[in-house]
Amino acid sequence: MSLVKSVEELSKFKLAVDAAYDCVVITDPDGMILYANSAIKRITGFTPQATLGKKAWTKELWGGLYEKLWKTIKHDKKVFSGEVKNKRKDGTLYNAFHTITPILNEKGNLQFFMDVQRDITREKEVDRAKTEFISLVSHQLQTPLTAINWYAEMLLSGDVGRVTEDQSSYLAEVYKESKRMSRLVSDLLNVSRLEIGGVLIEPIPAKINLLIADIIKESKFVEKEKEVPVLFAKPKEEIELAIDADLFRQVLRNLISNATRYCSEQADAEIKVRLEKQAVGGIDSLVISVMDNGIGIPKEEQHRIFEKFFRAGNAEKASAGGTGLGLYICKMVVENWGGKIWFESEEGKGATFYATIPLTGMVSKKGEKKLA
Ligand code: ADP
Repeated sequence: MSLVKSVEELSKFKLAVDAAYDCVVITDPDGMILYANSAIKRITGFTPQATLGKKAWTKELWGGLYEKLWKTIKHDKKVFSGEVKNKRKDGTLYNAFHTITPILNEKGNLQFFMDVQRDITREKEVDRAKTEFISLVSHQLQTPLTAINWYAEMLLSGDVGRVTEDQSSYLAEVYKESKRMSRLVSDLLNVSRLEIGGVLIEPIPAKINLLIADIIKESKFVEKEKEVPVLFAKPKEEIELAIDADLFRQVLRNLISNATRYCSEQADAEIKVRLEKQAVGGIDSLVISVMDNGIGIPKEEQHRIFEKFFRAGNAEKASAGGTGLGLYICKMVVENWGGKIWFESEEGKGATFYATIPLTGMVSKKGEKKLA
């Protein structure tokens, strides 16, 4: 290519990048800004000139917490793609979505970082408004549903007069479906509360062995009229940890109900709950596991199991009643209290779900609401 041609090509590039709507920043391997396009002024309030020579992704410019970002791009030399809370020149906060690519030379050494940043504050606000709407609607739906459940229960019990066999079977359907709707509504309410981020975590010391035994005793795990035995391998020593018992109950019940639902067809259906102390991800933790010998999770669908509304094909066939929200809620709750959740499974052989609590106790969190 002739020199003139190359210059022409380059100036085309520069014109395009200068005028791009998203903010484009190029830095040296230490994050020192070498180039910023004009969008940086619209998004951050700084002119491109004012940012030159300053360090990107530090308090100097955007004032946020960028440890994970730096580790990804500098240490791991990988692309960072994610949301960050940044500060504008005037001190106001905004939500940014950054995609930062480390540019390496042929020897694999860092040459530059290239950052494309988009202001997603507006999208976040719309998202939040939607979530608040779901929260409000599901809260409002709870009251009439409780009334329907209550009256259906009364009619079914025969307390207000006898019903014929046919009427009773129709009423049983009304009751079953309205219970299912109540479950969906409280799951939606919990999802919206967790997504808004206002859930309260109040850890107080509790005896975990006793609590698990109570949870298993108080809730009979029945599926398709079959009670599945839940065996708890109680450790000899009592383990005392600061936990929020309501949240713990919610997660454990969810894992055991899933195990029940997806193994009830088995003639020798059985659920085992275990407790172990173990370091997980470098954190000394209490690991609670729930193991079943049910339908398991197909390998190709395993990566989607904690997604909102996701249900594996075999689970949809086995049980129509699920919402696909239970594990999504469990994951958010466990991660909020400072733990981890994962599973191992082989299709047709069963599944084991694990959840951890740091041995230092659950992380306490201020919030307005408890889960439904
Ligand atoms: P659902 O209401 O469908 O049970 P969850 O969010 O609790 O929703 O679970 C999501 C999906 O994960 C289920 O639909 C099922 O495919 C799978 N799953 C969860 N627990 C188990 C289990 N113990 N055995 C087999 N599959 C499971």
